[in-house]
Amino acid sequence: MNHYPDELNALIELLQSLPGIGRRGASRIALAMLKWSPEKLSCLGGLIESLPRAISFCPDCGNISSHGTSCPICLAPGRDCSIICVVENFTQIIAIENSAFYRGLYHVLGGKLAPLSGNSIDEKNIEKLRLRLELPEVQELILAFSPDVEGQATAAYLENLFSGRSIKITRLAQGLPAGSDISYADSATITAALKGRR
Ligand SMILES: [Zn+2]
Repeated sequence: MNHYPDELNALIELLQSLPGIGRRGASRIALAMLKWSPEKLSCLGGLIESLPRAISFCPDCGNISSHGTSCPICLAPGRDCSIICVVENFTQIIAIENSAFYRGLYHVLGGKLAPLSGNSIDEKNIEKLRLRLELPEVQELILAFSPDVEGQATAAYLENLFSGRSIKITRLAQGLPAGSDISYADSATITAALKGRR
């Protein structure tokens, strides 16, 4: 048991719930914050407090965006509107964007099929995707799901659902470690998986 004031212990406990931060790391961050100016602390507090109001989801693709507007990717000039890459959630968009190979658009499904646990995908997100596929410029749909059972079941489901259309439907090439999450794959692996899609 440490001898920190309750407030500091409460902060350490919260920080510890962040991914990749253990008790020791959380303590180091909290103690470093004690050396910050009140202005800097209040700036951090204010930013965190504003997140639920400020961050929303892009009405076009479901990526995270600011205050209900379209996301920077949907708004960026020069993106290839003929390709839509379907991902499970926005963290995979960040990983794919970091690889800097893909220049098309995205569609966030917000989940994947999990036949064993009975989980399904929000119908609204599938309907939105269906509407986007009606656009004449769309020529290819990339199903970029993680190589696990649920990801592959979801890809198969969408492939079947949209197979009657005159668009190309591709999946990422093998190469991502089985059971891994695309969000944590390195750029070279993601680029190779996208380049080899079929
Ligand atoms: Zn968007």
